[in-house]
Amino acid sequence: YTGGPRTLREFVEVTWAYGDRPFLVAESGTHTYAEFFAAASALARRLVEVHGLRPGDRAVVAMRNLPEWHIAFWAAQLAGLVAVPLNAWWTEAELAYALDDCAPGVLLVDRERLARVSGWAREARVPGVVFEGAGPLPEGFEAYEDLGPADPAAGPPDVTVSPEDDATIIYTSGTTGRPKGAVATHLAQAGAAMNPRFHAAASALGRGLVPGQGPAPVSLVTYPFFHVAGFSGFYSVMGSGGTLVMMRKWDAGQALALIREHGVTHYAGVPTTALQLLDEAERAGDPMESLRMFNTGGSTAPPTLVARLTARYGERIEPRNGYGLTETSGGVLANFGAEYREWPDSVGRPTPTTEVRVVDRSGADVPDGEVGELWLRAQSNVRGYWNDPAATELAFVDGWFRTGDLAVARDGRFAVVDRIKDVVIRGGENVYCVEVESVLHGHPAVLDAAVVGVPHALLGEEVAAVVRVASPVAADELRRYASRVLAAFKVPAHVLVRPGPLPRNATGKVLKRELRAEVTATLAAPTPPL
Ligand code: ATP
Repeated sequence: YTGGPRTLREFVEVTWAYGDRPFLVAESGTHTYAEFFAAASALARRLVEVHGLRPGDRAVVAMRNLPEWHIAFWAAQLAGLVAVPLNAWWTEAELAYALDDCAPGVLLVDRERLARVSGWAREARVPGVVFEGAGPLPEGFEAYEDLGPADPAAGPPDVTVSPEDDATIIYTSGTTGRPKGAVATHLAQAGAAMNPRFHAAASALGRGLVPGQGPAPVSLVTYPFFHVAGFSGFYSVMGSGGTLVMMRKWDAGQALALIREHGVTHYAGVPTTALQLLDEAERAGDPMESLRMFNTGGSTAPPTLVARLTARYGERIEPRNGYGLTETSGGVLANFGAEYREWPDSVGRPTPTTEVRVVDRSGADVPDGEVGELWLRAQSNVRGYWNDPAATELAFVDGWFRTGDLAVARDGRFAVVDRIKDVVIRGGENVYCVEVESVLHGHPAVLDAAVVGVPHALLGEEVAAVVRVASPVAADELRRYASRVLAAFKVPAHVLVRPGPLPRNATGKVLKRELRAEVTATLAAPTPPL
């Protein structure tokens, strides 16, 4: 595929043509594409002319989902810098780890993050710009608000950006170990920017929502922008001149109000928040009249989600499930419409710029229907990990990225069955957590479920489930329910009911390492005397 932008600078320059259309809708008001582009250009000029940053220097962006996140990120792109969006929920120590690793030349942060990075900045003598920065600031920092209004006629700085240059370093979630800085070139990110367009164009329904045709989407993106799922969300909006309705903080009631108020057509979020939104809409008797697209991704969506959506809203709302990783710079496979309803546990088909293989341990393709590791070769693949040649060599083979996910192919469609590191090996039999979790989700009392392996003297590992329930239910009842569809070796030997939500990260992934430790400790604890 050779059409479309080849750098992120080219991609964002196109959005300038959307002029007076609303781009960002936030608590602070509505910002048009023209205003946004002028603000990002002005900040880019400052980074180059005043801070003296040069192409290839890193610019860290650490803030919650504020409109200014976009000004900071796109300013870095217009200045030819490598943008490093950091996880806004990280602690001071976690942020310091990434800051030491990527050695930025500037920090673009909000007031909340400032307290967590200013110690590091002082030591490293790195300056910064603070958004929402009213009040005294540490030395080296300036308030964005003090920079004055942007001159729309001035344009971005005159820097040259090539498709092979690095555009972003995005840290992996760290679900399976230390976060790694995945480095994407401009060509890779430009490919990622086009992926949502490919998916939208391939969508059978379209309903005037195909980019460039009919009214532009109004999108409620609830993913954190620092995660690649957030990137897929805002790329699809920007590529079609749509409107991004922002939430400072997730709240299902507020999401519902925003959908009503702004006539939101597209919802995008992790399965956890998606389910909360459906609960809230049902409770409030709100038909979410304007909604046409319901997009989830980032972690496994329970198959019950699509059934629920269809039962309630018929075909008006198209369900969609996107699969991707930090290393593919966002969604590269998607399942939607009738195919999603027919195969609700699938992540669908790849985009035209993505190739998929399912392979065995020797790297040979396995036949359809058999489980193997998912390998991806996509235009949007990153080129490797920052400062980590050993990890890069392990994960990338001849342009293919080894995802560490196990999957099954069927007629060109794919289903993810587990992460290799999470598979429970019980007495030599593989138990794929996603299968057991899906079955438990089908029980009417179950709100959420996660399956982990716990040590067992004879079997090596035993299957344990942790569930959150809507109404009291005995562990044995859930085990009986599961055994109606699952072979005996897959039925959880232990079912623990958890009063609160399961521990999840920013993209909705259950923190299995933590959960495994918690369950192992609970099971090992002596039973209290009656
Ligand atoms: P680390 O590599 O540091 O452990 P991570 O792999 O959790 O971090 P991400 O890139 O955020 O970091 O997550 C990618 C993973 O998310 C995929 O490997 C897959 O397991 C999961 N995932 C993403 N989308 C989906 C989806 N639609 N369905 C099922 N799983 C998904």
